[in-house]
Amino acid sequence: MADAHAVVVGAGIGGLSAALALHRHGWRVTVLERAAEPREVGAGLTLMANALRGLDALGLGPAVRRGGAEAPGGIRDRHGRWLSRVDGAEMIRQLGTTALGVHRTTLHRTLREALPASVLRTSAEVEHVESGPDRAEVRFRGPAGSQSLAADLVVGADGLRSRVRAQLWPRHPAPEYAGSTAWRAAIAFPEPVPAAISWGPGAEFGMVPLGDGQIYWYGAVNAPPGGRAPDELAALRERFGDWHAPIPALLAATPPGVVLRNDIHHLAVPLPSYVRGRVALLGDAAHAMTPNLGQGAGQAIEDAVVLGAVCAGGADGLPAALAAYDEQRRPRSQAIARAALRAGRYGQQLRNPLAIAVRDTALRLTPGRAALRGMARYADWSPPAG
Ligand SMILES: Cc1cc2nc3c(=O)[nH]c(=O)nc-3n(C[C@H](O)[C@H](O)[C@H](O)COP(=O)(O)OP(=O)(O)OC[C@H]3O[C@@H](n4cnc5c(N)ncnc54)[C@H](O)[C@@H]3O)c2cc1C
Repeated sequence: MADAHAVVVGAGIGGLSAALALHRHGWRVTVLERAAEPREVGAGLTLMANALRGLDALGLGPAVRRGGAEAPGGIRDRHGRWLSRVDGAEMIRQLGTTALGVHRTTLHRTLREALPASVLRTSAEVEHVESGPDRAEVRFRGPAGSQSLAADLVVGADGLRSRVRAQLWPRHPAPEYAGSTAWRAAIAFPEPVPAAISWGPGAEFGMVPLGDGQIYWYGAVNAPPGGRAPDELAALRERFGDWHAPIPALLAATPPGVVLRNDIHHLAVPLPSYVRGRVALLGDAAHAMTPNLGQGAGQAIEDAVVLGAVCAGGADGLPAALAAYDEQRRPRSQAIARAALRAGRYGQQLRNPLAIAVRDTALRLTPGRAALRGMARYADWSPPAG
C-alpha cells in the first residue's frame, strides 16, 4: 500500500480505536488531541458483547477483559426488588460473553499503549478541516502555533461538541439537552456489589463492579439543564439516601472530590451522512446518544473497526470505502440512539405512578431469556469478516 495518511481529530475512546484500526491496516496515522494530557474522564463504563468483539478485532479483547469485571446486570426498584435479572451463564450462551465493567482510564490506557507513541500529538486543537477531491487538510493550533497537515482521510472523533461536524455540516442542529442530569464516580468499596440499575420515579441509580475492589456508580434524575449544587455529594445523598442497600453505603464511601456531574445531551436530529468528501465522523461526533443502553462507547468502537475494515485497501478507492462505512454504520448507530432515548423515557425518566406500576409488572413477568433477546438486538454485533 502506498503511504496512506489519516489524521484523527480527538483521542477519546472513539478516536484511539479508529487510529488503532487504521494503523493495523497499514495506514500512517496522526491523532490530534486538544488536551495537554491524553486521558479519559468519567469513571466507569459497561461494555457489551458488541464492544468486546470490536476490541477483539483490534487485538485488545484479552487485555481489556483482564482489566475489568463481569457485569451481567439487571433492573431493580428503589427498594431493591429485582424487576429483571440477567443470568450471566445464559448471557454467555447467547452472546459468547457477559457484559464487562471497566474503568475508563484502563480502557483508554490500553488503547493508547497499543499505538506507537509518535502517533499522538497532544495540545493540538483542530480549528479547521477542509476536504478536496484528492486530499483533505486539517489546521490546528499546537504548542508551536498554527500548523496544518495534509491527509488522505480525516476522522472527526471530537465528541459531542464536534467542531468537525459543525464545520462540514454547518446547518445541522446542535446537540440537545435530553432532560436528565447525571453524577458518577469510581470508588474503592470493600464488599462485592452486583451490577444493577435501580429505578425510582424520574430517577435511576446504577452500580457496576470494575474489579480490583473498585465500583463505578452513577445517579441520574430528571432536572432542568445547567443545575449545580454547592455540594453535589450532599445533593445525591438527599436524593438517593433512602434507596436500597448498598446505595447509601456507596455514597458514604465516596470522597467528595471524585464526583462528576454532567447534563445529558444527545444529537437529537440524526445526521444525513457520516461522510463528507474525505472526512468521516465517528463516535459521539456522529451519533451522540443518551447513556440509557450503555452503548455510546460501544458504537464508537464498532465505527472504528468498520472504518478500518473498509479502508483496508489504503487511500485508493477511498470514496467507495467511505460510502460503505456510512452505509454500514449510520442505520445501526442511529437506531441504537433512538432506542436509547426510548429506554430513558420508559426507565429513568418515567414519573407517573400508574405507568411505573404497569412497567414494573411487565418487567417482572418477562422471562429472563426474552429480556436477554431484547438486549441482544444491540449487543449481538460482529466485526466484518477479513
Ligand atoms: C453518564 C454517562 C454514562 C455512560 N455510560 C456508558 C456505558 O456504560 N457504555 C458505553 O458504551 N458508553 C457510555 N457512555 C457514552 C460514552 O462515554 C461516549 O459515547 C464515548 O466516550 C464517546 O467517545 P468519543 O471518543 O466519540 O468522544 P469523546 O470521549 O468525547 O472524545 C472526544 C475527544 O476529542 C477531543 N477534542 C474535542 N474537540 C477537539 C478539537 N477541536 N481538536 C482536538 N481534539 C478535540 C476531546 O478533548 C476528547 O479527548 C456514557 C456517557 C455518559 C454521559
